Amino acid sequence: MDLSRRNFLKASTVGGLSISLLGFDLRPAQAAVRQLKIRNAREYRTVCPYCAVGCGTIAYVHGSGGLNTTPTLIHVEGDPDNPINGGTLCPKGASQMQLAISPRLRKAPMMRDARSSEWREISWDEALDWFARRFKDSRDASFVERDTTGRTVNRCEGIAWVGSATVANEDAYLITKTMRSMGLVYIDHQARI
Ligand code: SF4
Repeated sequence: MDLSRRNFLKASTVGGLSISLLGFDLRPAQAAVRQLKIRNAREYRTVCPYCAVGCGTIAYVHGSGGLNTTPTLIHVEGDPDNPINGGTLCPKGASQMQLAISPRLRKAPMMRDARSSEWREISWDEALDWFARRFKDSRDASFVERDTTGRTVNRCEGIAWVGSATVANEDAYLITKTMRSMGLVYIDHQARI
């Protein structure tokens, strides 16, 4: 047999034969099932963040976060069990993983001080304290106990709440309950999912 480089490769890779021309048993290799890259990933069911349709998605994450591991998002696809989209995603939704892994994604709150044109990064503690202070002050200043006819209404007219497309049904329920307990009456939700 002329064992040139070309013939060696040809003889080693003849597909469909159980025994290669060089005598190797190819059956184990042919029987091996190709594994998906998501086979060891954890699944998180979530919602597409882009529009009011609110399609259900599954995010696949590698790594437990333990020693020497870093949780890494490796794939996002439509959730076939979701009644809204049945596993389908539009082209924009199908590319939503790019949003999550973009190096331009902000991971901390930004603050623009009064009369400043510059944004600065602040901590979550600072942001929550700022929010709680403004919320309390606005509520105290705009709370209405009785309307013009004297009826008890106990409502806060100085604050409105608008949810986002990433707020799922259960989150929206909790937000609505929380805001109503504060007396808010102007409550809406962008996605209504
Ligand atoms: S996948 Fe498309 S249609 Fe569905 S929520 Fe996302 S952007 Fe909207």
